[in-house]
Amino acid sequence: MPDAAILDRLRAAVEAGFDAEVAFLSEIVRFPSRRGAEGPLQDHLARSFAARGYVVDRYTLADVPLEAHPKAAPMVGVDPAGSVQVVATRRGSDPAARSVILQGHVDVVPEGPAEMWTDPPFSGRVRDGWLYGRGAHDMKAGVAAMVFAMDAIRGAGLVPRGDVHLQTVTEEESTGNGALSTLLRGYRADACLIPEPTGGTITRAHTGTLWFRLRVTGVPVHVMMADRGTNAILSAMHLIRALQEHTVRLNEAAHHDPIYRAVANPIKFSPGIIRGGDWASSTPAWCEVDCRIGLLPGTEVADAMAAVERCIAEARAGDDFLANNPPQVTWHGFQADGYVLEPGSEAERVLAAAHQQVFGEAMGERLSTAVNDTRYYGRYFGMPGLCYGPRGEGAHGFDERTELDFLKRTTLSIAAFVADWCGVEEAT
Ligand code: ZN
Repeated sequence: MPDAAILDRLRAAVEAGFDAEVAFLSEIVRFPSRRGAEGPLQDHLARSFAARGYVVDRYTLADVPLEAHPKAAPMVGVDPAGSVQVVATRRGSDPAARSVILQGHVDVVPEGPAEMWTDPPFSGRVRDGWLYGRGAHDMKAGVAAMVFAMDAIRGAGLVPRGDVHLQTVTEEESTGNGALSTLLRGYRADACLIPEPTGGTITRAHTGTLWFRLRVTGVPVHVMMADRGTNAILSAMHLIRALQEHTVRLNEAAHHDPIYRAVANPIKFSPGIIRGGDWASSTPAWCEVDCRIGLLPGTEVADAMAAVERCIAEARAGDDFLANNPPQVTWHGFQADGYVLEPGSEAERVLAAAHQQVFGEAMGERLSTAVNDTRYYGRYFGMPGLCYGPRGEGAHGFDERTELDFLKRTTLSIAAFVADWCGVEEAT
């Protein structure tokens, strides 16, 4: 762990920079960086990294041969050329020192009805020690923490001996292709830290995620003849119920999972978007449902996909209309594996020591029932993927917020981790 004198210097620097950190976070929350619209925020970040002296690589997903990688996921309805990624690099003085990637996603999920929020959804407002807005918690607070952790090292008069890459990526909420692209672009390190909002715990494991779109179509009739006609919405509901039953069976099987038996119902299924029909007095001719379902780290993506298709095929038999009109299944996003961070890595030990020093208590661990980007680092590219970050509330909900005092301590903890992992020396 960093010695006490270094930690004191880092603490003073985090303290001195914290007003600027809150202002930085508030500003980046005010960018409505929904999927496909992250460009202005990424340009803003690229400029701010350049102003800090980093070498900045700004590129888009169209610049990287994603299709060539078996773990790239389909991006339906999104232009890769509009999906901007930023990698900011600071080379260390010692090529033998350990390097680190600090990565955060800047895409946010839609805010939903604005009237459900107390403040406007992208306000970035600070109230009673919390900062509010879509993305404040998931995960722009983590982005602020990693940027200002590095600023604190510099503010303390120190420089890391190893290389540091600060990466802001997109597509975390839909495919993971942003994180994958940085690896295909060639960025590597001895460890990766992703400061998702874990409340100061390490993510021991996360589940995988699949996205699929169901499309049901048929011949509409006047509702007065509805018993003879077809109703695409009712048939879609039939498929949703079948998928709910499929999920119950998966969760029963999860009772025997070596890790996730500790979690009740770790497999989450959600029909997230529904559209269909054209007229109240015509039976609907079409219905589309965008769905998300989880999978355990020990399940192959291909097997989980086949199980969904089997479930839908079997459900057709119980529905007169579907039996003659096969529903279409389109895999239009996530095809994400789960990931287990194997205990005992040196990177985790260094992070745990930093956490202990800053928070005065042992770093806890959590099992996540949602996906994050660490899988690319840990599962496919052989570097420990640490998911650890600030604390807040309201991810994907309303009045999303991050707790500023916790953010300050997390910033220090990340600074202490980088200082110890990469080593530091006096700036000249
Ligand atoms: Zn997130």
